Amino acid sequence: MQPRSISIVGAGIGGLVAGIALRRAGHDVTVYERHETVLSLGAGLVIGANAVKALRSLDLEHVVLGIGHRLSELRVVNHRGTRLAQTDQLSVGGRYGAIASLAVHRADLHRALLEELGDGSLRTGMSLVHIEKHDDGLELTFANGEVHRTDLVLGADGIHSTVRSAMGIPSHERFAGYTCWRGITSHIPTGINPQITTETWGPHGRFGIVPLSQNRIYWFATVNAEGPHDAVFKTWRIADLRQHFRSYHADVNAVLDATHDEDVLWNDIRDLEPLTTYVGWRTVLLGDAAHATTPNMGQGACQAIESAAVLVRSLRRHSSLDDAIADYDRQRVPRARKIVDMSWTIGKVAQITNPVLAGLRNLLVRATPARVNERTLDFLYSVDFDR
Ligand SMILES: Cc1cc2nc3c(=O)[nH]c(=O)nc-3n(C[C@H](O)[C@H](O)[C@H](O)COP(=O)(O)OP(=O)(O)OC[C@H]3O[C@@H](n4cnc5c(N)ncnc54)[C@H](O)[C@@H]3O)c2cc1C
Repeated sequence: MQPRSISIVGAGIGGLVAGIALRRAGHDVTVYERHETVLSLGAGLVIGANAVKALRSLDLEHVVLGIGHRLSELRVVNHRGTRLAQTDQLSVGGRYGAIASLAVHRADLHRALLEELGDGSLRTGMSLVHIEKHDDGLELTFANGEVHRTDLVLGADGIHSTVRSAMGIPSHERFAGYTCWRGITSHIPTGINPQITTETWGPHGRFGIVPLSQNRIYWFATVNAEGPHDAVFKTWRIADLRQHFRSYHADVNAVLDATHDEDVLWNDIRDLEPLTTYVGWRTVLLGDAAHATTPNMGQGACQAIESAAVLVRSLRRHSSLDDAIADYDRQRVPRARKIVDMSWTIGKVAQITNPVLAGLRNLLVRATPARVNERTLDFLYSVDFDR
């Protein structure tokens, strides 16, 4: 395809990966971010083999290898610490030809991508408010009054996407029924193996422990909630979480003890009911704007990265912009829908707190052979993003 003027709305993980790759492909790229200063924020993320391969296809694998912490085993345990299931991430990685699980601090990844984008492509303090169609392209209007013409718009502006609204795509945000605290510890407490990530399924909710580089741990705690924006949960600090999880095994409390209140984020868990299309005339959605998912498969950012890689490939393969956009939609909608649906179901099962049902669930999980768990990952990891 001939070089085009491409406007990307949103400088999150999805917008930055797409921006870097499209700029390298010779397009004239501008990334518009509403915030005046692009702050690198967030907690941890696990980058799975599918996203590592997508980054490789864009010559960006080195970014995650440089900052990521390689995990060798993924374990599910009960609240006493008894093992229910495990996946050997090294053999999974070997089977699919990429590191299976790289734990990264979102802020580290964001900063590394900003560096990779380089100067000249990012405009901050640019909040998109309106898109207008013209015969030869689109006109973008920003809250500060600036107006810009472009050939193609990528909406990488997150779950509350303005681009999606401007495209007139109906969407429904869903509260998953649980709320989530995420934190980063100041160090790895004694006794915690830095190669193993654990998720504890217990009677008071889930607790995930994900070792990162630089002697840190990223953790998350998910607790069922009657509805979004719970007024009591909003006030919770480390001491409240410690009290809530007091009957859980020692690692949970050790991790909470190693965290400062100011290093904790609180969000309700929500997703987007799967959309039937991510595209419109010369407009494309990617990342959470298209397929926001619950975090139960650790795939939100990974899917944003996949979408960027598929879009770049579609634009390269097709000389017509319309054909490229249609190709992207065909490839991305069914796959992302499957992940959103699967992640939603895993969340429902993992958040069961009824003791009888939770006991049955744990028996089932324990009885499932590791190779069956590993095979479930086939559709997720056996993807290719050839150049
Ligand atoms: C608890 C939790 C755990 C998670 N764990 C994982 C994990 O292990 N692995 C994983 O892959 N993912 C995980 N995720 C998901 C992941 O964080 C997101 O899916 C991913 O970061 C989305 O990236 P994005 O670029 O699509 O959107 P965002 O990060 O939301 O970025 C959107 C950007 O657009 C900007 N913007 C918005 N509106 C406008 C506008 N009108 N004009 C200009 N700019 C605008 C915003 O300021 C923002 O910078 C997790 C999420 C949660 C909540």
